[in-house]
Amino acid sequence: MISRTAKRFFIPGLALLLVAVFVVSTRPKLNMFNGKIMGTTYSVSYASTLFDHPLDKVSKTVHNALADVDQRMSTYKLDSELMQVNQAPVGKAVKVSKDIIDLVIEARKISELSDGAYDITVGPLVNLWGFGPAYWHEQNQKGLHNDDEKPVNAPEFVQWMIDKYPGAVPSPEAIAKARARVGYQFLKVDPSNATLTRTKDLFIDLSSIAKGYGVDQAAAALRSMGIDNYMVEVGGEVLVKGKKHDGEPWRVAVIGPEMGQHGVSAIVYPGNKALATSGDYLNFFEVEGKRYSHTINPKTGWPEAKRVAEVAVVADTVAQADALATMFMVLGDKEGLVLANKEGIAARFAYYTDNGFETVTSEAFKPYLAQ
Ligand code: FAD
Repeated sequence: MISRTAKRFFIPGLALLLVAVFVVSTRPKLNMFNGKIMGTTYSVSYASTLFDHPLDKVSKTVHNALADVDQRMSTYKLDSELMQVNQAPVGKAVKVSKDIIDLVIEARKISELSDGAYDITVGPLVNLWGFGPAYWHEQNQKGLHNDDEKPVNAPEFVQWMIDKYPGAVPSPEAIAKARARVGYQFLKVDPSNATLTRTKDLFIDLSSIAKGYGVDQAAAALRSMGIDNYMVEVGGEVLVKGKKHDGEPWRVAVIGPEMGQHGVSAIVYPGNKALATSGDYLNFFEVEGKRYSHTINPKTGWPEAKRVAEVAVVADTVAQADALATMFMVLGDKEGLVLANKEGIAARFAYYTDNGFETVTSEAFKPYLAQ
């Protein structure tokens, strides 16, 4: 039985508590989680009220979406769909998922746009220079490393790569041999039967586009749960939608190529678009003071060594932005800027100068820069 006094305080107190719980539970808050995938890390932030989208359910659904792309499109998993194509006899049509066909068609458009500077069949050269899975499969067999061993923050990772893979410059004969196995024109795509056929001994490498596609898929998983205000980032590729929990727009920091400073070189507001970056300062090795990065020019067979250090691209999907950023790393800032302005592509180039680096942006990129 509640006494009169208690009633006097208890009821209003309870009502106040209920109002407080109601306000807290109906006010969106910023929820965050992260993880590891595709040999890199991912992070997700989303605005939601306390009860609507519990973190454990959301994080599991997103991780599953990323793991699905990893499992099917990895060259680091010998049983992936992509590796079934790479290991099938030349001339044999191999059935793959429709989204792999779509990505290959998207990649082909960018190969044609860049006259072959971008080419997902560059795999034999990537592996030869030690940036691809072949090296890892070998090392794995000897049990010499595992993904957990890889540090995830950039400066340590750079040092780790240099220590672990003291790269070597392949012989001209080996480069010529690997180059003979490259050429997107030799990959037959049959969209109606969803098959891919290698018409010569190609090694398809989707590393430049499928990580971005993973972000697109993770964002689709959030939207399928009714979450419309989010930021998804996988290894530097980002997709944002809506607003932060406080109503502010999402801001993306583009980290500059001067890894020592680890400086933010630009703040970008992509709106509801995708942002991807590619650079030569995270995945490289040095021999006699010369840097060899993982962006390979399919025409020369050598890592591209133009003065461009990093490219950021804003596009409708992360897969597109990811592939275009790699394309521009091969083209360089001069040829790349002309193409970007001609095609209306939003691209920002950071290039090395004698005392640091300069940046230049295409017309289409300017609206996305912090004013
Ligand atoms: P980007 O510029 O986006 O891509 C550069 C990559 O594209 C190069 O590494 C090379 O593979 C390829 N490339 C180089 N030149 C060209 C060219 N001219 N045209 C087209 N492509 C080119 N890494 C691991 O260490 N362990 C893993 O288990 C692992 N799993 C992966 C699974 C998937 C599904 C994917 C997509 C990648 C995986 N990776 C893994 C690779 C790792 O994520 C890559 O380093 C990353 O995808 C490259 O992205 P980036 O932004 O660094 O460079």
